[in-house]
Amino acid sequence: MFGFLKKKLKEGIEKITKKVEKEEQVQERTKEKLQKPKKVAKEKPKEVKKSLFKIGKRIIRESDIKDVLWDLQISLLESDVALETAEKICNDLKKNLVGKEIKKKDLEIIIKNTLKNSLKEILDQKQIDILAEVKKKKPFLILFLGFNGAGKTTAIARVAHLLKSRGLSVNMAAGDTWRAAAINQLEKHGAILKVPVIKHDYGADSAAVIYDAVEHAKAREIDVVLADTAGRSHTNKNLMNELEKICRVNKPDMKILVVDSLTGNDSVEQAKAFESSVGIDGIIMTKMDVNEKGGAAISVVHAIKKPILYIGVGQDYKDLEKFDADKIIKNLLE
Ligand code: GDP
Repeated sequence: MFGFLKKKLKEGIEKITKKVEKEEQVQERTKEKLQKPKKVAKEKPKEVKKSLFKIGKRIIRESDIKDVLWDLQISLLESDVALETAEKICNDLKKNLVGKEIKKKDLEIIIKNTLKNSLKEILDQKQIDILAEVKKKKPFLILFLGFNGAGKTTAIARVAHLLKSRGLSVNMAAGDTWRAAAINQLEKHGAILKVPVIKHDYGADSAAVIYDAVEHAKAREIDVVLADTAGRSHTNKNLMNELEKICRVNKPDMKILVVDSLTGNDSVEQAKAFESSVGIDGIIMTKMDVNEKGGAAISVVHAIKKPILYIGVGQDYKDLEKFDADKIIKNLLE
């Protein structure tokens, strides 16, 4: 997980450090030349360059690191980090380095700390504890949103497994009525997990299926309703209209966007579309076990400022890991 991004960040840190050290050597040589007494000193060049030669310290100029920051930005883009996020990370570095007096021995630490703070600022959104939230209302309705193939059905089954393991009762609503396969798939999970699945026929009104699942939960005192929704209809506008109707009719208590981390930059546009249409409370980022780049996770959070709640790290029901921003950042920069 994140191996590619980690490698690119490491390369970036090395490049910046080396470039600054190289500039320092060039300036040291210039300094020596300037300090040699000249027969006819027309001006006082020492004064002009003075600020660059504080003893034991070094003032970094923008021109020293411009090209290495550009290289870092390209590396971030190659790691699926979206342009605006890559720019934020590089601008933060520029702000923290340019014009600052930095001792050579501190340089790498300052670069790492700046990267750490930028990533923390992006990833550390206010967390939601699903296990605590679902106890606040009965039945608690969670809507799962996201494009086809993102891992929505799998995520629903995983959350059902998690809630059941904590002693909570669950039912699932087959709200993706656009795909017969989606209903079958949810039924298969339901059979394995021993969780009732509320379904209508293929092509039925999704809002009505979810409404029925909530009624079913009320009648049986079920704690949580996990509702699937369509991931595609004939146009995205229709999909968003359908989701808006589901929300109007059923007033979900939580809306979770399921994002395939392998979709790279596309995932940012998807997240923005769902957020602006129905609003998102949190994200489940899937397929992190097979994703080396990792930039999509950072970019999606930066784009919609909503927390990643869980990450999918395999094919089993138990392969749902609570998202820990500090752990991910530590792993990226160690
Ligand atoms: P949906 O169309 O959004 O409902 O997507 P599915 O839940 O059917 O998932 C699509 C495919 O992705 C399936 O083959 C899943 O097994 C796979 N998948 C889902 N989540 C993960 C994950 O976290 N890791 C891996 N490796 N595969 C996953």
